[in-house]
Amino acid sequence: MRADLHIHTTASDGRWTAKQLVEGVLAEGIALFAVTDHDSVGNIAPVMALLDGAGLAFLPGVEVSTLQAGNVFHILGYGIDPTHGPLLALLNEHETKLREVDDEDMRDLIALGFPIDWEDYVAYTYDRTRGGFKSLNYLIDLGLCDGPKDFFARIRELLHHRWPDFAPPGAASAMIRQAGGVPILAHPGASFMKLGGVTGDNLHSALAWGIAGVECYSQYHDPETTAFCVDWCTRHDLLITGGSDYHGGLVNRQLGKPFVDTDQLRLGELEDKIMAPLQRGGFTTENAEIAKET
Ligand SMILES: [Zn+2]
Ligand SMILES: [Zn+2]
Repeated sequence: MRADLHIHTTASDGRWTAKQLVEGVLAEGIALFAVTDHDSVGNIAPVMALLDGAGLAFLPGVEVSTLQAGNVFHILGYGIDPTHGPLLALLNEHETKLREVDDEDMRDLIALGFPIDWEDYVAYTYDRTRGGFKSLNYLIDLGLCDGPKDFFARIRELLHHRWPDFAPPGAASAMIRQAGGVPILAHPGASFMKLGGVTGDNLHSALAWGIAGVECYSQYHDPETTAFCVDWCTRHDLLITGGSDYHGGLVNRQLGKPFVDTDQLRLGELEDKIMAPLQRGGFTTENAEIAKET
């Protein structure tokens, strides 16, 4: 069964709505998929509402931003209850902090002499199907930035950009567990890039955070990195997941890449969290329970 367990939507910085996502997943021939927005579960219910009769297996998910010694790590949480109060509070806090940092970036640019009017920026809104975030879209509309690549390579280099004080990865993993989910270390090849790469020592340090597994299959990984992660997880009896980190075309990644078959994964306790294809009745809590049992 073809799988993609890492996909973003308009609930964070992706371009696809819930409907576009379900249609896209079907068109690509992916049978098991997960929605994993940055610090948001906003599109889980809308996606679930579209699954009736679609024949798709679904894992509700989230990608929690975390900060450890000044470095950002993304922890995927699969099978979480998207209505869990304490988890929602943490995600809200992170979203607020991300917006504050976005605003600080803009103040920096104004101080640097960019022709930006603060009040105009504050009042600005953008269509979420454009993807990205507020300051990026605002700068594009002012003709001051070409797109995400230009933003990260040129503009952010000019700023005193600092990451917000996201929860530490251990606390985020514990919260995912508390919300009924399973914490997985996302794309270690990206997270450890400036920390010596994917090594046994680095992966070992992540074990202390309470992760249950590693996203081994990722567009950030070359074949050697993937093989290393798969071998390491197998030897440590950890789960193996994979996904495209697709953002609806915002950045240069494709849905369903790398090609992942569930036979290549070790889903373990995640298997109980998968919502099987719903044939009739739409999404209800009762149907979700039935689906889990079938
Ligand atoms: Zn990520
Ligand atoms: Zn992601």
